[in-house]
Amino acid sequence: MSQDLASLAREKGIRYFMISYTDLFGAQRAKLVPAAAISDMQRDGAGFAGFATWVDMTPAHPDMFAIPDAKAVVQLPWRREVAWVPADLAMEDAAVAQAPRNVLKQLVATAAERGLRVKTGVEPEFFLIEPDGNAISDAKDNAIKPCYDQQALMRRYDIIAEICDCMLELGWQPYQNDHEDANGQFEMNWAFDDALVTADRHSFFKFMVKSIAEKHGLRATFMPKPFANLTGSGCHAHISVWDETGAANRFHDDGDEMGLSRDGYYFLGGIMKHAEALAAITNPTVNSYKRINAPRTVSGASWSPNSVTWTGNNRTHMVRVPGKGRFELRLPDGAANPYLLQAVIIAAGLDGIVSKADPGKRYDIDMYALGHTVQDAPKLPLNLLDALRAFDKDATLKQTLGDAFSTAYIRLKEQEWTSYASHFTQWERDNSLDI
Ligand code: ADP
Ligand code: MG
Ligand code: MG
Ligand code: MG
Ligand code: MG
Repeated sequence: MSQDLASLAREKGIRYFMISYTDLFGAQRAKLVPAAAISDMQRDGAGFAGFATWVDMTPAHPDMFAIPDAKAVVQLPWRREVAWVPADLAMEDAAVAQAPRNVLKQLVATAAERGLRVKTGVEPEFFLIEPDGNAISDAKDNAIKPCYDQQALMRRYDIIAEICDCMLELGWQPYQNDHEDANGQFEMNWAFDDALVTADRHSFFKFMVKSIAEKHGLRATFMPKPFANLTGSGCHAHISVWDETGAANRFHDDGDEMGLSRDGYYFLGGIMKHAEALAAITNPTVNSYKRINAPRTVSGASWSPNSVTWTGNNRTHMVRVPGKGRFELRLPDGAANPYLLQAVIIAAGLDGIVSKADPGKRYDIDMYALGHTVQDAPKLPLNLLDALRAFDKDATLKQTLGDAFSTAYIRLKEQEWTSYASHFTQWERDNSLDI
């Protein structure tokens, strides 16, 4: 698409641009700018008060500007008069270092300095629920093993096909849509690409799924574990690293039994080494820890990991190598910030390459049945506070992600934990009233 947003508006009949940025908690914030005003905004950015969103600023900070990245503009296929454009935050002519899209761009640049291009695909799972948020939207969707349920999928055809048609039009190469392992849960897949492209698409996907579900009178949620006894919503990431032209997969080695190169094992080693710390980013909410480490769900398996282990084609571990030249990180969940998810994968993986990190022993066991027999694998954090503490202790990961970001993230997330911990629960009454 054209780089000049004003002429793009004329060509495509766009009346409004949403200049959108993602804050540290993953929320998308936007200003709706009429096409007549877009030229100035494209140059100078749209002004925001940083403190009003999760970017770790005070009310006294000067104006923050969201400068649209015109290359990544998307005309909404379901509302063509509007276009969404992801933006980069700046203040007093300098990039806001802790802004998630800036953090990712920095990591992409660091990888590029080493001649590396990280390419990823994400698998965001979501539930279609009632607008009040309390129940799934389809009472007939009640099978014990609902995965791939044909009837339940087709009862939601109007929504799923509309979203998939949008992805086809946008050229994302979507290739499959299914009913997932929980009642009311779905997954839609499109082709992997450069980490920043995937992060922008992942952000737009969440906005699109929510918008189209609302249009049909429903609500979509990416919450990691919205229903205690049902499988939670993951957001697995598939990862490979390519040369700078993007033509040769540096993870691919036919000579290896898993089809992984030495750099592939090192990158994996970095993910394993930093796993407990990076969980603070891949699993960023209080609720995230009810998806990992979870007891068996109604369907028979949670499909989420509990320990830092890797394996071949086996879905009970944190990392699976499903085929040659890539691996799948099964840890991230639906709450993961699309930009920080990619950034932390690159940060951990690059450190793995630099430090020649050994991924450790491969376990080819059913972790749900035999996890207790594995003695040398760390357990994943049991809650957000443990994850934040692990992240705070991981000096290398913090530094690779950038000190400004890491300090801001830990500060805001600790505040969130404190807010949660000071909230009184029914559980306390049930268990303490008669003590
Ligand atoms: P599964 O459910 O079996 O884990 P999916 O088909 O749902 O897998 O999702 C696989 C994701 O991995 C897709 O986004 C796909 O484009 C991506 N992918 C495939 N090959 C690679 C690769 N070499 N590098 C990065 N991502 C890849
Ligand atoms: Mg105002
Ligand atoms: Mg999948
Ligand atoms: Mg899935
Ligand atoms: Mg998967």
